[in-house]
Amino acid sequence: MDTPIVRVDDIRKVFPDGTVALGGVTVDCAPGELLVLVGPSGCGKTTLLRSIAGLETPTGGRIEVGGVDVTREAPQRRGVAMVFQHYALYPDKTVRDNIEFPLRMARVPRTERNRRSDEVAHLLQIGELMGRRPAQLSGGQKQRVGIGRALVRGPKVLLMDEPLSNLDAKLRVEMRAELRALHQALGTTIVYVTHDQVEALTLADRVCVLRDGRIEQLDTPEAVFGAPSTAFVATFLGGMNLLRGTLVDGHLVRDGSTVARVPGGGSGEVDVGCRPDALRLGVGGDDALTVTGEVVLREMLGTQSQLHVKVADGLIVRALVPVDLPTERTVTLWAPPADVHLFDADSGTRRAPAPTFSVGAPA
Ligand code: ADP
Ligand code: MG
Repeated sequence: MDTPIVRVDDIRKVFPDGTVALGGVTVDCAPGELLVLVGPSGCGKTTLLRSIAGLETPTGGRIEVGGVDVTREAPQRRGVAMVFQHYALYPDKTVRDNIEFPLRMARVPRTERNRRSDEVAHLLQIGELMGRRPAQLSGGQKQRVGIGRALVRGPKVLLMDEPLSNLDAKLRVEMRAELRALHQALGTTIVYVTHDQVEALTLADRVCVLRDGRIEQLDTPEAVFGAPSTAFVATFLGGMNLLRGTLVDGHLVRDGSTVARVPGGGSGEVDVGCRPDALRLGVGGDDALTVTGEVVLREMLGTQSQLHVKVADGLIVRALVPVDLPTERTVTLWAPPADVHLFDADSGTRRAPAPTFSVGAPA
């Protein structure tokens, strides 16, 4: 990997009231990378981003930007820029004045301000909008102006904290696609915070899943989705079914009864994981995961239906099936072994060897 542009080394943050927001987080970000920090509310995403920005003082650890230790440096001297939620444009200022605002604050002379904002506007292809006010812009154009204001001081890294979270669903999807395209065109390094799993998977070059102030998994979207290293990641990203029980001779046993046939060996307390779209109606082969249960709910989702199947007391399995398929009250579902994930019940960590997602010639 190239020399990282951001290096977060064992960052800890304990707030004065004793809350441990970050319990030792280490992550590097390569030049041009879009790194997404994702996790449930309260897991420490904002605290980590604000620590990189210099808006929060870590209790321990070290932060480098562009190879320079900035742990004790003031925010404006770190070479990073924060893009705020909803892009927070000044409604009564023109696009040009919005973009130039940080330069004005830094007392940059007018000609230099104009030159730099023209440059950024050209890059973002909003040059012809410089005289407009935010109300006269589309959602995507506002996003570009917000990013332009962050880029105008020439930061090495853009930091974004849930910029799309308060937008309506349709606009959010549009802006997400636009942001991905912008990142590809600009090549700027971005650290992006979201609690939205779809946003994380669609935007990221790499996803950093946080839980209770620690990294749960750090990898490509394909790897965190395809081979989650813990049961937490498996359910948080993509809502995997988890069947808790004891493995005995290729069967999963709960309260003395067999509830599933499970491919592969192993014994002990486990969570058997399987995504709803990996389950099919019918009886699979000997090496398949197989469960039987009563359909307690059928949800129409448009192109598919989601069945909620009660396979044991307190254990519901969700399966996506074709809409037009008639289903019995009691159904059997199966999944191929490649779609079955085993997690240790105690530690929550992955048990079976992870499928490989390396690109290139097979070994
Ligand atoms: P996220 O952005 O992932 O939702 P935060 O980084 O905002 O999480 O918060 C992480 C944890 O730190 C939470 O438990 C939150 O309540 C706590 N926290 C955040 N800011 C403060 C503060 N100023 N004082 C005390 N606790 C805080
Ligand atoms: Mg937050």
